[in-house]
Amino acid sequence: MQSQVEGIVIRTMPYGETNKIVTLFTKEAGKITCMARGAKKPASRLAAITQVFTHGTFSIYKGRGMGTLQAGDPLESLRHIREDIMSTAYASYVTELIDRLTEQDEPQPVIFDMLYQALHAIDEGYDPEAITLFVEWKMLQQAGLTPTLHQCANCGATEGEFAFSFQELGFLCHRCFHIDRYIIRLSPALVKLIRTFYFVPIERVGSLTLKKESKSLLKQIVRTIYEEKAGIRLKSRKFLEQLERTPEFLPKKEELPKDE
Ligand SMILES: [Zn+2]
Repeated sequence: MQSQVEGIVIRTMPYGETNKIVTLFTKEAGKITCMARGAKKPASRLAAITQVFTHGTFSIYKGRGMGTLQAGDPLESLRHIREDIMSTAYASYVTELIDRLTEQDEPQPVIFDMLYQALHAIDEGYDPEAITLFVEWKMLQQAGLTPTLHQCANCGATEGEFAFSFQELGFLCHRCFHIDRYIIRLSPALVKLIRTFYFVPIERVGSLTLKKESKSLLKQIVRTIYEEKAGIRLKSRKFLEQLERTPEFLPKKEELPKDE
């Protein structure tokens, strides 16, 4: 059976001398894995279309077992992601997170849209660290974690000062601070920011300028939730953290190849 899907390449793995196993996140069918025969050969017509972060339409033949990628047409290249090492690292982190938290052959159009929006925003030069935070906070639900962020997780109050509690998985108001010894106190701006990351679609945010310390704290909170509540630690995180720690070794934006 032949099918046509729109998707984004989220992972590839060499298979044998010349083949690649390609994982696509598709609009129609969610995550699917297929064999791209000959795609490792540079001259193959499948070589370009099976690059990670490529968004395109793919023809897949499915008999028994794994499908075979017959052909593909790029819809766009998202090439800026690959030209900038920070963008590549964040985009890899986003795709790995989505890969880890989704099952094969389960249509998830909302996650497809989010992946598409996130990669686009990174490609267009929005702060990749902020875009990654959007994805991390939103994907908590997919990991079975639903933090209480619209009110106090203990008493339901919506007014007052708030702190984040890992124990309660959500906000606590100042009246309830005493029930958790390890709360993280939050300014009203940080409370608002967490709600934005969790509730507001990426495309509705536009350009958001965030302080370095705010991003660090919100990243630390969300990654701790994944680790402690779901046991999830991503491989690409280590690389990302090395880059974040040593920005002086990175090429500056103006030194990167330009294309007009
Ligand atoms: Zn309360």
